[in-house]
Amino acid sequence: EDYQLHYVNSGSKAIACLDVVQPDLILLDIMMQEMDGLEVCKRIKAIPQWEALPIIMVTALASKEIMAGCLEIGADDFISKPLNRLELKARVRSLLRIRQQYQQLSTFNAQLETLVQTRTAELHALIFADALTGLPSRTLLLHKLSQALDWESVNVAIAYLDCDDFKLVNGAFGYKIGNQLLEAIAARLKKQLRPGDVLARVGDDEFCFLLYNPPQGNTLTTWIQGVFQEFETSFKIDNYEIFMSFCMGIAWKSCEHNLPEEILQAADTAMYKAKLLGKSSYQIFDHQMYLATLYRLTLENELKRALEQEEFVNYYQPIVKLDTQQIVGFEALVRWQHPDRGIISPGEFIPSLEETGQIIKLGLIVLQKACEQLHAWHQQGWSTLTMSVNLSGRHFNNPNLLADIDQVIQETGVNPAYLKLEITESAIMHNPEAAITLMEELRSRQIQFGIDDFGTGYSSLGYLHRFPLNILKIDRSFVIGIQRENRDYQVVKTIITLSNQLDIAVVAEGIETTNQLQWLQQLDCEFGQGYLFSKPIPADQVTTQLLKIPTDS
Ligand code: C2E
Ligand code: CA
Ligand code: CA
Repeated sequence: EDYQLHYVNSGSKAIACLDVVQPDLILLDIMMQEMDGLEVCKRIKAIPQWEALPIIMVTALASKEIMAGCLEIGADDFISKPLNRLELKARVRSLLRIRQQYQQLSTFNAQLETLVQTRTAELHALIFADALTGLPSRTLLLHKLSQALDWESVNVAIAYLDCDDFKLVNGAFGYKIGNQLLEAIAARLKKQLRPGDVLARVGDDEFCFLLYNPPQGNTLTTWIQGVFQEFETSFKIDNYEIFMSFCMGIAWKSCEHNLPEEILQAADTAMYKAKLLGKSSYQIFDHQMYLATLYRLTLENELKRALEQEEFVNYYQPIVKLDTQQIVGFEALVRWQHPDRGIISPGEFIPSLEETGQIIKLGLIVLQKACEQLHAWHQQGWSTLTMSVNLSGRHFNNPNLLADIDQVIQETGVNPAYLKLEITESAIMHNPEAAITLMEELRSRQIQFGIDDFGTGYSSLGYLHRFPLNILKIDRSFVIGIQRENRDYQVVKTIITLSNQLDIAVVAEGIETTNQLQWLQQLDCEFGQGYLFSKPIPADQVTTQLLKIPTDS
């Protein structure tokens, strides 16, 4: 046959010559002096490199126990003496074929492994580097920050940069120029990298320096000024000259925040504070900001729970006709019935709900409850009462708003002609066209629409005629100081005159004294609302204290 054969006369010699001979297969006698075949087989199979080498046991003792023993210790086959030439050939050939297939498979496996490793490396590069600027990514930054936090002797800080009005660049020049500008910004920022520090791109127009053992005091101020100076000259991109500025927030590793994400968040918070100061400002995260952040996060979580547990209730404040002081309707004002803190005013939690978008959920709950309540009062005989419900600006821009309102009206069975929605001036002016469309939709459903806190936002009477408005609520700030012929008096007078011409009903908010009431009456202000008549109170108190006798009777 076409095989090369090597013979040895003991098991130990067989093991010793494996590396020299490099066999493809071993025929192994069982009965041998010094070390028997079973032991030899066991030892060869224990060498990792030879573990897969096929071994055929050759034996005259063809008992079932011995065969089973052979297989047990890892032999691949056995053949009995005296040898049959054809049988031997067939067994050798088949084991060699299996070995060949096995070898092919392991080569293939090795190739696959290399491929996977290359691809993993490519993916790593993608995750750890920003494709546009080539700077480290947010992921890599967090990774490095997390490493640095493990070294106790190293202090670290994050300087978080956010470009001012970068959107305007994209809007005015397009994304291509925007991208080139970002690359140019990255290049300039790189110049301010101290040796060993990291500069990463962490968002569209957001960059972060990771500072190891950050400079302190004056040295820090000098470094910050250096970064700002990089932006004092304009960027020249594609024949355009673009000036760009940024705000910066800095946060240190401290006992208050020691997780990578927390430090990044703290620097972001400081950056946000800097933005409030105007372009090219910076702020360093301090304890005050920490407390504010903590409070905000706690509040957000608690509100999420409060919405699930339905901890919100409506209070109702009467709206009265000022000449007769008769109650014509109510405004629904939401309250949070906190399990530990008691009743909480909307001023404390509405901003947070607006920020997280949950105001829409709350708005619907309030609307639903107010409509149920109004329907109940109507059924009890107070059939002309109206109900005013506040709508947040965010809700007002929500595409589902009309469908939601329709559903509430249908579910509660309330007569929509007695429902009034209030929205602030600034929310309307934010998107006047959408406001007009919505008001018209509401009008077609007979729902009335009013501007809240009038006079605090744009304070322009000039645009009123453009809106299909029913009600205008004069802000409390004008009512507080009203006196004969003073400025507030004149303003209120003008608002009332114009509203009368436009057929808009006027409600004065926050009437607290009879004095204020008298001045408003003198100006023929038709409706009013305020502590003088009643504070906002729960529905059952409204029924027992304010609505004692049905108006119909
Ligand atoms: P707003 O819509 O201008 O409501 C009038 C606020 O003035 C109410 O405060 C009311 O309690 C208060 N007020 C009424 N009369 C007097 C008075 O004579 N003197 C004084 N000092 N205050 C008076 P409240 O209930 O704390 O609500 C504050 C604001 O929270 C509301 O201002 C409204 O913008 C918002 N809000 C309340 N409920 C809701 C709601 O369900 N949805 C939305 N989106 N906002 C709501
Ligand atoms: Ca209101
Ligand atoms: Ca108001």
